[in-house]
Order: sequence, then structure tokens, then C-alpha cells
Amino acid sequence: MSSSHDVVVVGGGPGGYAAALYGAAAGLDVALVEKQKLGGTCLHVGCIPAKELLETAAVYRTVAHADQFGIATGSPEVDMAAAQARKQKIVDQLHNGVGKLLEGRKVTLIDGWGSLGPDRTVSVSGGESGEMTLTADHVIVATGSVPRMLPGFEVDGQRVFTSDELLSITDLPERAAIIGGGAIGLEFASMLADLGSEVTVLEALPRILLGADDDVVKMLTRAFKKRKIEIRTGVAVTGCRHSGDGVALDIDGDDPLNVDAVVVCVGRRPFTDGLGLDDAGVETDDGGYVVVDEYCQTTSPGVYAVGDVVRTPQLAHVAFAEAIVVVKHLLGESPAPVDYDRVPWAIYCHPEVAFVGHTETSAQEAGFEVATSVHRFIGNGRAMIVGETDGLVKVVADRNDDGTGGRILGVHMVGPWVTEQLGQGYLAVNWEATVPEVAEFIQPHPTMSELFGESVLALTGRALH
Ligand code: FAD
Repeated sequence: MSSSHDVVVVGGGPGGYAAALYGAAAGLDVALVEKQKLGGTCLHVGCIPAKELLETAAVYRTVAHADQFGIATGSPEVDMAAAQARKQKIVDQLHNGVGKLLEGRKVTLIDGWGSLGPDRTVSVSGGESGEMTLTADHVIVATGSVPRMLPGFEVDGQRVFTSDELLSITDLPERAAIIGGGAIGLEFASMLADLGSEVTVLEALPRILLGADDDVVKMLTRAFKKRKIEIRTGVAVTGCRHSGDGVALDIDGDDPLNVDAVVVCVGRRPFTDGLGLDDAGVETDDGGYVVVDEYCQTTSPGVYAVGDVVRTPQLAHVAFAEAIVVVKHLLGESPAPVDYDRVPWAIYCHPEVAFVGHTETSAQEAGFEVATSVHRFIGNGRAMIVGETDGLVKVVADRNDDGTGGRILGVHMVGPWVTEQLGQGYLAVNWEATVPEVAEFIQPHPTMSELFGESVLALTGRALH
């Protein structure tokens, strides 16, 4: 069987389904090929299940400390089977919703493995849709990524996990090691610690959370320490051996670490297995990422690539943004390329982290004279009411000659609900707004967003509180 379309998208994760939805909304005839489940990593083994289980952890934490609000609950207990059932219900609901949205926009959904050939052909096999060849004016590769593994580690979902297996866990380990102090590793560390595991984070680099501002990292490290999460940086894990019911992790220059479970969170590799990129003339770089220009065009005319399969921040909302750029570009419009230095980052550990734009250090390295302002949640009424006062907001601005702030270059937050508060900072940075402009905005009282307002106001040279 064969069919012809304006656009064929390979991969139905955030990059692929967003391209299909946005393309169809623009009147294009789109076919979407997916080998597993619509929604991709993000919906099935990423953003949504991870945040859902972190919410279970947050509820546990709240209930465990309810006595400070005058509510006696006794000791809460975790029922992981029930927690997993709730997570799955939400995943299934969203999965169903994506399918309905795509069907509603008349996207042709094809179940099977897509493989690229010359001249924008895609052959499909191995799925419920059977074998077929699709031709298109434009092909969009959105095949995503899979967890990277360390040599000598065998994933079994019992003692050795990647994020894929951990998100289906029903037995909580007493002692867990997380290898990798990036966003995913820290979220898992936070979740397991809240649910009662003794957690050690092992990071090879000298610091955790690369890309975050130093003040944020210091505050987060302190908060984790208070919760008895041990963070060890500059640690090279050289091996993993079965030991009793758990594993022993060999550490260069130190004693082995014995734990019941180890979660390997050392990044994700682009997934292009069996994709036929060579046949289609699509180049990859030395890390296996598809090479693209600022409009996500590959080296093969008419073939684009978006999401985790290209070397851009591996975030679902970046994949969405790239998908929109691609559709506009193939329609002959003039989209602004994604500004990767100013995308929002949100990490849902406890306390949460959220940031956008330059850190103080990166602004200095870029040659800016920098003015910064830091305000802490400990003085914020709403944070006290909620009982979550660990955290700060830091605004980084271009410094005027009189020491006040000019253009806002970066906004960095760690603390309660900051993933929901970053929006104003994101707009300020990306709108290239100045301190005097944003200082005029009113923040509702009492809210945690007052901290952002205060931080900006302080940079005018006249703080309020
Ligand atoms: P994917 O979501 O990986 O989707 C690719 C799809 O392509 C898959 O469905 C796959 O089956 C399909 N496919 C692959 N090859 C073929 C083929 N040959 N034929 C047909 N189909 C194929 N990002 C955030 O923004 N916020 C978060 O909070 C967040 N949390 C995360 C937590 C975890 C634990 C993980 C692992 C990731 C998280 N991410 C988060 C990252 C986010 O999930 C990814 O950036 C996002 O899923 C990338 O989307 P994508 O469409 O490029 O790829």
C-alpha cells in the first residue's frame, strides 16, 4: 500500500504530535507514524508519570507534617500500587486525549516503524497498520531519545533501574543510589527520599544541576542535606556488582557503596536505530544527533528533525516550539528560530527549581556588567503560610552606570511552586524587558510571586521590603 501526504511525521512524542497537530491546524494533510504509543517518552516514561509520582511524594510529605497545622493524622503509609494506579489513570487519560485531538484534526495515524528512504519516502512495517510506503513533500523526524547506560550496568528493574523502570516501581528501596545529579536524577532523589528511602546522589562533575545559577544550587544542596539526601560530587562510579539482595557500586578512590537499588540517570541518547537516515541523506553528528540548522532542516532537502533527536535542550516544550517553527517554515512563513539560551527550565524536586536566561556567571562571561538582586522565601507571607520557606529568587540584569539594573538577563528561582512562578521571568527575559518597566507591574498580595516583584524593584535602587 502507498499514500502521499503534504507531511509525514515519524515519531508521535511531543515533537511529532505537536508538528502533526499544528500542521493539520494550518490545513496540511499530515500522516503520523508511531511505533509504540502516541505521547512518547514525555507521556509514558517521562514528564507526566515523573511529576505525578512526585505529587504522591508531596502529598505524603504534607500529611506527615500536618501536625504543624493543628491536624493530627498519625503516621501516613505509602501504597505504591494505588499510587501507580493513579499515575496510570492520568497517563491513559492524556494518551486518549492526544489520539482524539489528532483524529479530530484528521491526521492519518499509522501504527508501525517508520524508516526513511530517498526523496522523502517513509516505509512502514512491523505494526498494526501493516507494510506501506508513504511519500511526502516534507518529512519530520521526531524519534526522540532513550536512556544512556553505563558500561557494566545491567538493567533489571529490580535493583538496577533507568527512569523507564523506576516510574513503574511498586516496592520502594530502603537505600537508593542515583547516578547523575541532573534534573531527572534530582527529581528521583527527591521523590524516593520523601517516600522514605535513604538516598545518595553520585555525580561525576564537581557540581549538580549544570546550567543553574550557583546560588540556586547552593540553596538546593542545603535543602537536600536537611532532608538527609546525601549529594556526592566529583565521584566516578566504575562498576556495579550484585551483593546480597542489592548492589555494590564501585567508586574510584573510595569504598564501595552498598544500596538496594541504583537508578542510572546519566542522560539520554538520540534514538535513530533502524531509521534509514543514511539512505535519506540525513547527517548525524559524532553523538548520533541529527544535524539541523536553526529552522530544524536536516542535510536532506525537505526533511526536518525536532525534539530530543537533535542537539537542543531535551525538553518537551522545546520539542513543541521546534515543531511550530518547522511547520511555519515549510509553509513558507518566516518563523523566529527557537532561542535556546532563553528557554524555560523547570525541575520538580523539593524545593522546586525554575530558571530562564543568563546566570550571574554566564552573564559575566558573556561580557555584561551585572547587577543582581536576591530575595528569600523566608520573608514571604504566603510561603510561611504554606510552611515552605526554603528558597530564593534571583534576578540578573545588565548594570547601569549608577548601579541600578537595565535589561533583565536572567531569572532564577528555587523554592515552593517556582515552576508555576517562572512565567513572569520568562516573559521579562524573552521580551527583553528592563528593570524599570517590570518594576511597575503589581504582584497580588499575599503571593509567592511578590518575591519576583521585590527582586526587580530592588534593582531600581529603591526596595520596598
Ligand atoms: P519522545 O518523547 O522520545 O518521542 C519519540 C517517539 O518516537 C516515541 O513515541 C517513539 O516510540 C517514536 N519512534 C521512535 N522511532 C520511531 C520509528 N522509527 N518509527 C515510528 N516511531 C518511532 N521534559 C520537560 O519539558 N519537562 C519535564 O518535566 C520532563 N521530565 C522528564 C522526566 C523524565 C524521567 C524523562 C525521561 C524525560 C523528561 N522530560 C521532560 C524530557 C521529555 O520527555 C522529552 O524532551 C520529550 O519527550 C522529547 O520529545 P520527542 O518528541 O522529541 O521524543
